Amino acid sequence: MEFQLSDEQRLIAESAREFADREILPWVRENDRAARFDRELASKMGEVGYLGAPVAEEYGGRGLDYIGYGLIVEQIGRADSSARTVVSVQSSLVAGPIERWGSEEQKREWLPRLCSGEALGCFGLTEPDTGSDAANLRTRATKTDSGWSISGQKMWISMGNYAEVALIFAQTDPARKHRGLACFLVPTASEGFTAQEIHGKLGLRSSDTAEISLDEVEVPDEALLGEVGDGFKVAMSALDNGRYSVAAGCVGVCEGCVEASVAYATERQQFGVPLARFQLVQEMIADMILKRDASRMLVFRAGALKDEGKPNTMETSVAKLHATESAVECANLAIQVHGGSGYVDDYPVERYLRDARVTTLYEGTSQIQKLIIGRLATGVNAMLPFEEA
Ligand SMILES: Cc1cc2nc3c(=O)[nH]c(=O)nc-3n(C[C@H](O)[C@H](O)[C@H](O)COP(=O)(O)OP(=O)(O)OC[C@H]3O[C@@H](n4cnc5c(N)ncnc54)[C@H](O)[C@@H]3O)c2cc1C
Repeated sequence: MEFQLSDEQRLIAESAREFADREILPWVRENDRAARFDRELASKMGEVGYLGAPVAEEYGGRGLDYIGYGLIVEQIGRADSSARTVVSVQSSLVAGPIERWGSEEQKREWLPRLCSGEALGCFGLTEPDTGSDAANLRTRATKTDSGWSISGQKMWISMGNYAEVALIFAQTDPARKHRGLACFLVPTASEGFTAQEIHGKLGLRSSDTAEISLDEVEVPDEALLGEVGDGFKVAMSALDNGRYSVAAGCVGVCEGCVEASVAYATERQQFGVPLARFQLVQEMIADMILKRDASRMLVFRAGALKDEGKPNTMETSVAKLHATESAVECANLAIQVHGGSGYVDDYPVERYLRDARVTTLYEGTSQIQKLIIGRLATGVNAMLPFEEA
């Protein structure tokens, strides 16, 4: 077992840290206050290869392994979870599935533009009535002479207002349940495709979130990603990698909380001494470090298994569950260390809390991660309480 990063991996992490300090941190507060999605930043991240880091070089990616990708995501997440969402969605939920399930034509058409940031993509799984029960989609794809007609609603879709291409998951045959699902690559300029911004989010304010409506959107047969019936597998394999990315981003949030708290506790004085002199303050910092380090190790474990091509659903869910819950707890502790100053956006810690909060909800809630872990441990599916378990 090797606990050291290689020279190349250290370099990847250092340059991602410098990028985040230079290109993200100076504008993060203003973007958050204005709830502004920073499209230029997305392009810059594409230019340096952060939007398709694990995608093969022949399709415009960097061909990095998952550990390297995780190190980049951690650094972007330390600076801004909204920017990290762009990296995660684009790399893990859009480009990754196209690379894994797409035809040669689909890969050539979309991957170079997605990896460079010229085009953005979105992942349309969730619907107004279908969240955790992802197999139970209402969006319908009906066969036509020339391809498919898709109708339905998608909810909470990150980057849905800016994407040029949407992965849309739809039911082709309700009688076949999850075996009837299919995934389509839908250009968002298609007639009948509309997206609306969702306002008023607690956090991730500079991340775009959309409600999407599909009204008899016509796509050709070539828009199918994989085969009819592969939709559920496409979604689950994408989420396996998306969850890894969310977990790595949350390690970055924990790291940001530790750094901000150490800086504040060593500067701010009370009772004539720095806060860091108080054991109860050190306890909070020690708790954050514990959560950060455990989360990071779990992310590395999941990443190492992905790099070896070994099954990793359990380890990825463990990493996602632990890192996301840790990010929320660290951000809460970091606010406590900052006292009243932690409650306003002069310091990053209140944003860390608002931004981290969604990570225990999306890409499978914490309860869903526990049900995945429990099912893999026991062989019993507790997700369906009464039947088909
Ligand atoms: C900011 C944001 C961005 C998002 N981005 C995307 C995106 O890009 N693409 C996309 O497709 N989706 C996206 N989502 C949707 C997200 O993945 C869902 O919100 C999530 O899967 C939970 O679904 P839900 O909100 O319908 O909650 P529900 O499924 O209604 O769950 C509500 C509560 O019930 C619990 N629960 C549900 N089922 C069970 C069960 N079997 N056992 C125990 N407890 C259960 C849940 O854990 C939760 O606590 C995003 C959401 C947000 C908020």
